[in-house]
Amino acid sequence: MNVRAASLSPAEVERLTRRGLRLAQFTVVYNIAEGVLAVTFGLLAGLVSLVGFGADSGIEVAASVLVAIRLSARLQGMPVWVVDYVLVHELAHLLEPGHDAAFWGWVDRYPQAERAKGYLLGWSAAARLDPPPGDDVD
Ligand SMILES: [Zn+2]
Repeated sequence: MNVRAASLSPAEVERLTRRGLRLAQFTVVYNIAEGVLAVTFGLLAGLVSLVGFGADSGIEVAASVLVAIRLSARLQGMPVWVVDYVLVHELAHLLEPGHDAAFWGWVDRYPQAERAKGYLLGWSAAARLDPPPGDDVD
């Protein structure tokens, strides 16, 4: 069945978005447990294939987190280039955990990074929320 988003009511979009978020959250929890168990028992048994299977679970966790970000309520209605910036920001954290120069070196490769940071700072101020992590003005 081919369902076009334009034909869905706002209530249907909300219901499907919530369902997608629950599925993404379940997938994250399941794959973390699967990865920990597979790597642990793979190392104990000396089975490289089982360790590799567990490492693959980490990739599935990252993919599910990205889906959850795309579906998050706060990002609904924001321009695609802002959502893409948030995805780039979170992907960069896979390489650099903090918000240091190396981290921003990765994030700023996204051509719309500065524009999206400004958008999010303005959006946060208008919503009277704290600015996005690491994006506060020095
Ligand atoms: Zn961050």
